[in-house]
Amino acid sequence: MFSRKYKSVREWTHEKRNRFTELACKDPMFPTPGPGKRLDADGVPEVNYAVIGAGITGCSVAHTMLRHEFFQNDTIMVLEASDRTGGAAGISHAQVAPATAIDWGELVRRVGVRSANQAVVFSHRNLARLGELCAGLSAEDRKKVQFRRVKMVTNFANREPKNLYRRWDPAFRRMFTHLGNRFTEKDAGAAGTEYRFRIKSTSGAVEGPGATLNVGELVNALFNEMLREHDGRISVRTNTAVRKIKYRTDNPSLPWLLHTNCGLVRASSVIYCCNGRAAHLNHQLLGKLFPVNHPMSVEGLTPCPPDDSGTYSWRLIQRPTVDYCTGTFKPGQYSVVQDGRSLTYQVSGGPQTVASLFPMSGEDALQLSKNDHRERLHRLFRQPVERLEDWLDLGSSSADEPCDGTYRLSTLGLSSRCVGYTADALPLVGVIPVLNNHTRQNRQWVAAGCNGQGLDKCWLMGEYLVAMIAGEFVDNRLPDCYQITQARLSAMDPQNYLNRLLQVDTYEDRTPINTYLAPN
Ligand SMILES: Cc1cc2nc3c(=O)[nH]c(=O)nc-3n(C[C@H](O)[C@H](O)[C@H](O)COP(=O)(O)OP(=O)(O)OC[C@H]3O[C@@H](n4cnc5c(N)ncnc54)[C@H](O)[C@@H]3O)c2cc1C
Repeated sequence: MFSRKYKSVREWTHEKRNRFTELACKDPMFPTPGPGKRLDADGVPEVNYAVIGAGITGCSVAHTMLRHEFFQNDTIMVLEASDRTGGAAGISHAQVAPATAIDWGELVRRVGVRSANQAVVFSHRNLARLGELCAGLSAEDRKKVQFRRVKMVTNFANREPKNLYRRWDPAFRRMFTHLGNRFTEKDAGAAGTEYRFRIKSTSGAVEGPGATLNVGELVNALFNEMLREHDGRISVRTNTAVRKIKYRTDNPSLPWLLHTNCGLVRASSVIYCCNGRAAHLNHQLLGKLFPVNHPMSVEGLTPCPPDDSGTYSWRLIQRPTVDYCTGTFKPGQYSVVQDGRSLTYQVSGGPQTVASLFPMSGEDALQLSKNDHRERLHRLFRQPVERLEDWLDLGSSSADEPCDGTYRLSTLGLSSRCVGYTADALPLVGVIPVLNNHTRQNRQWVAAGCNGQGLDKCWLMGEYLVAMIAGEFVDNRLPDCYQITQARLSAMDPQNYLNRLLQVDTYEDRTPINTYLAPN
């Protein structure tokens, strides 16, 4: 007899496995934009580079190109399906959680020490780069973006992730002497006191460097700056969804014809920064890059909680599961960010039905997440709740406000956005393999697939993709394992994706780590 909760898709029936793979590869409905202005009212516009998607990756690509001398005579058009720039993480405050010992160990196991080290350095460098970018903004924009260096607290939901952390941490510290010292493990008791967690049901935490920021405001400020400083070279079109891209041989210098809801655009080269949806515009990526729903809720606490937004940001990690009976998937990570203005908590991650993982309909995801997110918050924040009487002004409290140290949680908002997962759980950056007759200037490029945690990677992925387009050597800058090769694409199989999603090998591997660390 199987238990109800499944940790491995090995336990799934063939039928279920195939259905899941089928869903993962199915065309999602493209984002439905609002009414946009016609693009081609005065003839089909012609641009050197069409960048699809105005999230943080698309913003980084455009920003870097405009400053790079290789592209000084080129024009860029950014096409964004939704009504605003900023992308998936742009709807609220988001966290930058750079690589920990767990992330490093996972990479060492799968891609080797050299690539894993590159990815850790890349992730921490990305955090520093975001800090520099924000520091360069006007005072007004800095206030809107609210970039804050915080203690990133990764909370272990139970012993499994804690054991995983302990398995890799000593080697991580030896490998990165300076960086390793910036991470501190807290046992359940210490973490409970300091972070006000209900640590009874968790197994401790690790505290490390991190940041929070409003990504939507950052992207907006940077696009405005680009439009001001490079007028005539860049245009940004919102409410413009690309639905189809065709290669036309009749115009070799502008071979790509993009069909959008607002008309046609011709481009020399196409750059996909539209995350999981890229696979549905370029079928070479189908079955390798998947759009996956990612629910988020905004939770308010009554009475008002203390302001921890400038000090901490939280994650809760656990082993992902699938409930065979209900088809519910619970992910490996939840993130919690407090908004410094409203003091509400934004909780993302959360369970969803297997069918609603894919962006056909986010409805089930939202219903399931609503209750789960509240439960998570209860689990994370019992301590402040117990001490709420300290903050509660009993004299001014209304009759229905709690005055016994308990509190009420209310879900103020619930939404679901699309992220990009890959079959090998690593980002995809580089040129999409094409016919030999395509020159560097008219190929198709992609930077996507951060598997739900991209803010420690996306900006530099954009910068180094541009360097690759310019013909620069990026091998010491962009981790090898993120780069696209024909061999990597061929090995990416949607069936592997299932076990990756459930992190089966991550949690079940018992090989001594020295086997992975020993030079071959
Ligand atoms: C609710 C939520 C919260 C998140 N919070 C965090 C967080 O705190 N930390 C973190 O590291 N990661 C977070 N993520 C993960 C997040 O996806 C990435 O970190 C980051 O947003 C990826 O940036 P991107 O620019 O590559 O892609 P996206 O942000 O997904 O941007 C892609 C853009 O392309 C557009 N697009 C898609 N298809 C088309 C088309 N056909 N035509 C035109 N435009 C198109 C989309 O509308 C979108 O604006 C979160 C994701 C979600 C959904």
